[in-house]
Amino acid sequence: MQSLFKKASIALSLATLAVAAGAQDYPASKPITAVVPFAAGGPTDKVAREIAQIMGKQLGTTIVVDNTGGAGGTIGARKVVQAKNDGYTILIHHIGMATAPALYRNLGFDPLKDLEMVGEIADVPMLLLGSKALPPKNFKDLLPYIKANGSSISLANAGIGSASHLCGLLLQSALKQELVTVPYKGTAPALTDLMGGQVNLMCDQTTNVAGQVKSNAIQSYAAMQGKRIDAFKDIPTAAEQGLPGIEVKIWHAMYAPKGTPKAVVDKLSAALQAAVTDPSFRAKMAELGAEAVPAARARPDSLRAHVASEINKWSPVIKAAGVYAD
Ligand code: ASP
Repeated sequence: MQSLFKKASIALSLATLAVAAGAQDYPASKPITAVVPFAAGGPTDKVAREIAQIMGKQLGTTIVVDNTGGAGGTIGARKVVQAKNDGYTILIHHIGMATAPALYRNLGFDPLKDLEMVGEIADVPMLLLGSKALPPKNFKDLLPYIKANGSSISLANAGIGSASHLCGLLLQSALKQELVTVPYKGTAPALTDLMGGQVNLMCDQTTNVAGQVKSNAIQSYAAMQGKRIDAFKDIPTAAEQGLPGIEVKIWHAMYAPKGTPKAVVDKLSAALQAAVTDPSFRAKMAELGAEAVPAARARPDSLRAHVASEINKWSPVIKAAGVYAD
């Protein structure tokens, strides 16, 4: 009995040693793939590529971005849930991680049970934007225009579960008016159509549209949060302009497949904590209207608590809106 116990504990410590040795070598100059569940060149892609570059330097390897867009980010997320849990595949996703469980009847994974949490990255605010071809030139004129033409006005989004979808839901519910939604694989291709006038309106993250807003290539109607956005102080909030109740903040975070060794997750999180405090990352985010999180939020425990509280916050809102997908 005693020798059996001894054998078991030797086996256990050998296993622990193997994991520790693996983590010591990690990432062993092998590239890491960061899945971004949206189109290349879009808002999440921009955050991901900035953080990947700095974290790569921290870890002594390259982090390659793999854009797997579609279905509001759920296809790419599922790809990471099913990936090998060796630390060489990670996921960079946003608030959609917390809205998908209420939106999708067959999501196929539970964010809190089927992924390892690494930490948060950045918060990105949203703007309501319009094509230059749309007659109203400001938000006050847009409201009656929507009332009069609602059923023929199109609203682009990046699919059910995307940030643009959530913001669009809040907008339609505040307006008590349904618009014609047009889904894309990300807001990068949607922005091209918005500029071309093929679609009328879109809620988008500042990381995608900072340049177009500054150069006036699209119409900026309102900031979709409680206060004005630091980098776009001249754009009033929707509430300031008569439409209260819309408040979204698009937090981005990093995950690894379930069962990725804790030592590896800790290494990723340590590199993430260093990267979010890196002055060049913070400056780049600020330039795009976003905000890098403090190091305390770039941790597994705080991300877990955040995902849980965001699922609790958004699930009833989504259920009340009566929106779902299969
Ligand atoms: N994050 C998406 C993208 O990168 C857009 C969205 O969620 O609305 O395209």
